[in-house]
Amino acid sequence: MKWFLVALCIIWVNSLDLEDNEGQLGDGLPELYDGDMLLTPEQKLILSLDEKDLWRVSHRNLIYRWPDKTVPYVYGAGPIDGLTNDEKNKVRAAMRYIESKTCVKFRGRKGQRDHLIIAKGKPGCFANTGRTRFARVNLGEERCFKHGTIVHELLHILGFAHSHQAPNRDDYVDIKWENMNKSTKFPFKKLPSKDWTMLDLPYDYASILHYSRKAFSINGKDTIVPKEEGVEIGQRIRLSELDIKRVNKYYKCPEQK
Ligand SMILES: [Zn+2]
Repeated sequence: MKWFLVALCIIWVNSLDLEDNEGQLGDGLPELYDGDMLLTPEQKLILSLDEKDLWRVSHRNLIYRWPDKTVPYVYGAGPIDGLTNDEKNKVRAAMRYIESKTCVKFRGRKGQRDHLIIAKGKPGCFANTGRTRFARVNLGEERCFKHGTIVHELLHILGFAHSHQAPNRDDYVDIKWENMNKSTKFPFKKLPSKDWTMLDLPYDYASILHYSRKAFSINGKDTIVPKEEGVEIGQRIRLSELDIKRVNKYYKCPEQK
């Protein structure tokens, strides 16, 4: 029954007028889903039905994977959303870095309906998860233009959630709920294994999509504690080996890339 409802939902949201979505984007961005992941109107709709279904459709069904292994993108424009040339160069460098490790490509939009907008009109650094009609990376503060942060956001765009939300994470990390605000607990929520595929890859402490020990801490104490001693988490320098494998597997890249 749930599947049927989700299917209905998808058919319905896909038939929404362009203006509806534009209005959502123009009047205020979709709300933050988990700290730095945005929900589009259609994702929110699906989420309101049953939050688990968001993950089912985004990952199991693969409808949010970009076709032709290519993300068409445009930059935001104007005094609010526009990027400087220097900022665009940093974004391009992050794209080229991902391209150098995977078979995924970022290309200027040529009329594709679903595309990525890279803009900086809102405070904070955040992104949609996966392909949508108006996927958005928002780089609203200077800190957002760090290479690793841009790479992190672009990985969300490619369809990936945070690594510490993996279904098997309780075997690898302890979440200290008492050290965070109620409103920021969602990004730490575990994704259900029946709806979320790990792509047969192991848990990844080194992922660029893993939060750090003190992420969203309200008291200076750790919010994520690795079970394995001496392990570092939360790096924002490079794609881990498993990040690269994950992207390549999800996009069916040739083995040797
Ligand atoms: Zn994130």
